[in-house]
Amino acid sequence: MTPENTSVLLIYTGGTIGMIENPETGALENFNLEQLQKHVPELQKFAFRIDTYQFDPPMDSSDMDPEAWRRLVRIISDNYQQYTGFVILHGTDTMAFTASALSFMLEGLNKPVILTGSQLPIGVLRTDGKENLLTSIEIATACHSNGRPIVPEVCIFFENHLMRGNRTTKINAENFNAFRSYNYPVLASAGIHIKYNNVQIHPHGIRRELKPHFLLDTNIAILKLFPGIQENVVRSLFATEGLKAVVLETYGSGNAPRKPWFVQLLSDASRRGIVIVNVTQCSSGTVEMERYETGYQLISAGVVSGYDITTESAVAKLMFLLGHDYEPAKVRELMKRPLAGEITV
Ligand code: ASP
Repeated sequence: MTPENTSVLLIYTGGTIGMIENPETGALENFNLEQLQKHVPELQKFAFRIDTYQFDPPMDSSDMDPEAWRRLVRIISDNYQQYTGFVILHGTDTMAFTASALSFMLEGLNKPVILTGSQLPIGVLRTDGKENLLTSIEIATACHSNGRPIVPEVCIFFENHLMRGNRTTKINAENFNAFRSYNYPVLASAGIHIKYNNVQIHPHGIRRELKPHFLLDTNIAILKLFPGIQENVVRSLFATEGLKAVVLETYGSGNAPRKPWFVQLLSDASRRGIVIVNVTQCSSGTVEMERYETGYQLISAGVVSGYDITTESAVAKLMFLLGHDYEPAKVRELMKRPLAGEITV
């Protein structure tokens, strides 16, 4: 691929990377893409076209929602043919959720979509934003000698590591090394050279076509277990009107209390069609409900294994599957199958 037919669409949604300190209050406030670009004159050194699209006003990623995800899918699908790759500047707080959602919503993706951001604003001397932005652009345009993109999938690039988007979690509110992919190897490491881990990257499909999805159903909840959890709390959660699915954050390899009221509430909810997905509270490893008696009873209560999925990815995948209006049995079935490399079965 020559510089003349290489191009990137840089989508700025907001986040710390594009913030500046208000001298009066000391709080970080958004500024626009033009100001952001001024702080990165290096952008002009790229020999190819970089077009931009800005969310106006920019969003702190705590405000991200399915509406904003749909907007991103719309921007990418409308501009899909014109660009070699896409870079999304995004706040770090919910970046893993957005990356997970996009990985399902952009079915058949065959081009790089790289999300990045920073822990320090781009105008600050020690910012990590410049490096993250410049390397993301490089990755979004990287091609094999046959002209095919090296990374045709949704990723997060942060502090020298390229990770599959739907495998990531924000793990640090302080360090530059803020994201981790515990259950899947990094797709690339950036040092003097960018070293791609080609065997772990989704292969490029010659005839694959983008099929954007826009329908998401948000009638879901996360239930994190802790010793002493009360029956009335769990009962009222499962009695929520319209509730269709619950991400059950369990202990270790997928274990939960054996208390009869608890198991009964889960069985009743499953019977009423609520999909319950077992996701471990551990950062690393997988759910194995057959391993202990405490997990085994969850199988009888209709709970499905989330294997090694992250909570972020389970939330996005459930919204995506429920958005298709599938029967609960089909949602349960599809939760057990990898759709975008989000689980290892
Ligand atoms: N609150 C910011 C956001 O997620 C934090 C960040 O960008 O790092 O938008």
